[in-house]
Amino acid sequence: MDNWKNQRDPHPARLEERLEDDVVRCHLSPRHCRIRPGQHGFCMVRANRDGRLVSLNYGRSVHATEETIETEAVFQYAPGARILSMGNIGCMLNCDYCHNWKTSQARFVADKDIYYYTPEEVVEIAKRHNIRVISWTYNDPVVWHEFVTETAGLAHEAGIINLFKSAFFISDEAVEELLPVIDIFSISIKSMDPVYYRKLTKGWIEPVLEATKQVYRAGKHVEVSTLMVTDLSDNESTARDVARFVGEELGPEVPTHYVRFHPDYKMTNTIRTPIDRLERARQIALDMGLHHVYLGNVYDTEATKTWCRHCEHLQVTRYGLNAQLVGVTAGNRCAECGEPADLKQLANPDPGRARVAELPPDQQVEPARFQWHGDIRSLHVQVQNLASVPQQVYERRFGDGVPPGWAVLPLAPGESYRFIAAKAYPGERGVEVAVPAACQSSLHEVFDRAHFPTLDLLEEPSASEDVTPFPRYEKPVRA
Ligand code: SF4
Repeated sequence: MDNWKNQRDPHPARLEERLEDDVVRCHLSPRHCRIRPGQHGFCMVRANRDGRLVSLNYGRSVHATEETIETEAVFQYAPGARILSMGNIGCMLNCDYCHNWKTSQARFVADKDIYYYTPEEVVEIAKRHNIRVISWTYNDPVVWHEFVTETAGLAHEAGIINLFKSAFFISDEAVEELLPVIDIFSISIKSMDPVYYRKLTKGWIEPVLEATKQVYRAGKHVEVSTLMVTDLSDNESTARDVARFVGEELGPEVPTHYVRFHPDYKMTNTIRTPIDRLERARQIALDMGLHHVYLGNVYDTEATKTWCRHCEHLQVTRYGLNAQLVGVTAGNRCAECGEPADLKQLANPDPGRARVAELPPDQQVEPARFQWHGDIRSLHVQVQNLASVPQQVYERRFGDGVPPGWAVLPLAPGESYRFIAAKAYPGERGVEVAVPAACQSSLHEVFDRAHFPTLDLLEEPSASEDVTPFPRYEKPVRA
């Protein structure tokens, strides 16, 4: 019996209104749920305990995961920087196509997928691995309000910036509490059609648009993305309406992403978004005057790269979830024409992981080898150091045109860590991970960006596991 809801004490919740007869109202999202004693709100992670509003998911997260900022549909802030992704439980929406439904819909959450963190621990993980950005992501950070605001404040004190990736169905009071601690907002606007919103997400569009304007007006870095669901929203009118909102209500400089959909959750009887419809959407938005329009969840296309708005010189090249600055000066100007680049950079850039040419002699373990296949071009690798002394895990790519050498992941005694390996070069065929005998590890296939997979490749899926349209990888080759 999964019992994450009963572990540890509920945490006092903010944005509470106390009503008569011990009833409370939650003002975190536009639902403003009225909750009777012993009951919970729509999201199932905020409840009434003895007449007070409490959070049931404070400090409860899926495993902290190192990814890149491109994972979060953020292309014009610190391209290629590593982020520490934190995701929790529950959501204020219930989208029919959610690809994180096993954690966003609290009734499906299994204890094995839940870890417990304090705000101090989250900041410490980022500092230990020299990660400059914490991303509040996956299910939806709105319903993790107390933990996010508290931890993001501590992160700021440590010189770490905060990224909020959200469907942003949120109240204006809650937005006001986020503004002092969040630096980057990556906002998913599902459609501009009110009927679509009601039917597909169980929310409504107006608060999403208002909250997006609110953070833009506050001067935050904002990027907007829209999932183009096959035959439902992958049409020209969606492209045009989103571009009009961005251009007229925000500004044409706001990066806009049209994102490829994959079948999932309640919507498996369909296909991925055809690429030509995405390309058409992008062209419409560019023709309407937006400066930077990207496609998401696609490889091998020019539509993921950043070009100088003035001279069309290539500034950032991307492949999947990886990015490299190629045409920007140290002063953040175009290397060709000298105009300012439309990019924000970290004051303290990400040093990346250390690399070695060969595995050290005392680390000669046979690496696990995973091959990219079909649409599976990224992998979460979870490792835990079971020893009382530090250990090192090594990772490298194989195939054509990949750089030589191994990236080094240091692990403190007892530390558990998770990181993404994402295909970075057209000729790359897969990834090798060398894990010392003193560590245990698991591999998890990632379907598209900002997906937190709960399946371990070595486990047999049960009937209740993820519904996935992709063939599972048979068995990774291990020593
Ligand atoms: S966060 Fe939204 S859905 Fe959850 S209890 Fe509060 S108002 Fe209801």
